[in-house]
Amino acid sequence: MWLLPATALLWTSIIAASPSTVLAGHANDSSQPEPRYDPATVISIVGVIQDVREMVHPAGTRGIHVMLKVEKRTVQVHLGPAGFLGAFELRVAKGDSIQVTGSKVKFGGSDLILARQIRKNNEVLVLRDDDGRPYWEDEIFKNCFR
Ligand SMILES: [Zn+2]
Repeated sequence: MWLLPATALLWTSIIAASPSTVLAGHANDSSQPEPRYDPATVISIVGVIQDVREMVHPAGTRGIHVMLKVEKRTVQVHLGPAGFLGAFELRVAKGDSIQVTGSKVKFGGSDLILARQIRKNNEVLVLRDDDGRPYWEDEIFKNCFR
């Protein structure tokens, strides 16, 4: 009579332990949340573009990143989705000197600037509103650029 409850208890603990084992396989997805724009960490920098590439965030979103040479450092800047950026006159390419205003956040252990605005020569491209909300998430744009 004593054995039955003990066995039941053992099984309960195995079942309770298994969900975390299953979730461990997806650890990469949840350990690196999407970097969040923080208006309190907005900075403005000027640098020369060393590289432009499309990156896939761990959460699955894609975006154009530029590697900006700022004095002796290289700063990574997240601009926005390629489809959205392609809709504007202002294009960025390797060798361009640009000014970036955006929120400095941590992403994958290093610094990342979530750009709110970029300026090249006299052209300005505004990517987010003052609170950091991306314009590509606006209803107007949503249906146009993917
Ligand atoms: Zn990005």
